[in-house]
Amino acid sequence: MDANSSNRDAALGHGLPPYSGISTFMRARPTRDLTGVDLAVLGIPYDASVTYRTGARFGPRKIRELSSLIWGYHTKFGVTPMRDLNIIDYGDVDVIPTDAVLNLAQIQAAIAGIVEAGAIPLALGGDHSITFPILREIAKKHGPLSVIHLDSHMDTWEGTHGQRYTHATPFRRAIEEGLINTAAYVQIGIRGPEESPADIQDALDLGARIIPIERVMDEGVAAVVAEVRERMRGPVYVSLDIDVADPAYAPGTGTPEVGGLTSYQLLQLVRGLRGLDFVGFDIVEVNPLYDPTEITALLAANLAFEFLSLVAIGAR
Ligand code: MN
Ligand code: MN
Repeated sequence: MDANSSNRDAALGHGLPPYSGISTFMRARPTRDLTGVDLAVLGIPYDASVTYRTGARFGPRKIRELSSLIWGYHTKFGVTPMRDLNIIDYGDVDVIPTDAVLNLAQIQAAIAGIVEAGAIPLALGGDHSITFPILREIAKKHGPLSVIHLDSHMDTWEGTHGQRYTHATPFRRAIEEGLINTAAYVQIGIRGPEESPADIQDALDLGARIIPIERVMDEGVAAVVAEVRERMRGPVYVSLDIDVADPAYAPGTGTPEVGGLTSYQLLQLVRGLRGLDFVGFDIVEVNPLYDPTEITALLAANLAFEFLSLVAIGAR
C-alpha cells in the first residue's frame, strides 16, 4: 500500500484504529484552503450564552473524537461522502469566550469565507446562539432561507437577562433581520414547560410553524417529513439542537427536556429530507460534561454524517 492509498483509506475510516491519529471530523483533511471544497465542517466552541449548564464549548472536540467510530459508507443511501465530495475540517472559529457581540463577527468571518468559496458549512456547536450569525452570512448569498429547526425549545425569546444574542434568541433575531422565509420555517419536537402561553404565541406570531413532539409521536415521522417537505421553498438550512432527542439518548446537553425523539426517529427524520437544496447545517448544544457514556456526542457525530450523506446523494 503506497502513501496515497493509505491516506485515502484513512479518510474513509480504514487503516487506522478509531482511537489513533489526529482527531478531525471523520478524518477529513484539516485545512482552511477552500479551493474546490464542497463542504466544510467547522467547530464553534462558544457556550457563554446558555440559560443553565455550560460545557457545550467542549462539543466540537468530542464530536470529532466520536466521529472516528463511523465507517464511511452510508448503507441506506449508497454514498461515501468523504470520497464522493471534497470535505474538509476547517478547524474551530476563534471564538471570544466572553463577548457575544464580538463573537458574532468572529463566526460571520469564518462562515463568509466558506460561503463565498461555494462550500456548504456544517457547524458543530457550541450553544444555539451560533446559528444567528451563520444565517446572516448564508442569507447574504441566498436570500431568506427555508429553515428546519429541530429542538425541544423554540428559541424565539426577546432576550435573557437583557442580552439579545443568547441561545434562547437566535431565531427571533434571524426573523427580525429577514434572514428566514417564515412561510418555510418549521420547528420540530417542541415540548416542555414554558414560562407562559405567551412564549408559544410569540413564536407563532413571528411566523414559525410549530410541530410539537405530540404530533411527531401521534402522527409518526413520515407524516411530519411530508409536511416539512411540502413547506420548503428554495435553499434550506437545517439547525439541529441535540436536546430534540430524549435525554435517555442524549443526556449530554445544557437544557434537557424529557419526552423527546429516539435516536432512530431522528435518523428517520433527517433521512426523510433527502433531495432538498441544502445550504448549511448546524448541530448544537452537545455538552460533554454531562455525557458520561459519550452517547450524545456519538449521536451528534452520526447526525453530522447523515447531513454529509444528504449532500452526497444530492450531488449524484
Ligand atoms: Mn433546545
Ligand atoms: Mn435550541
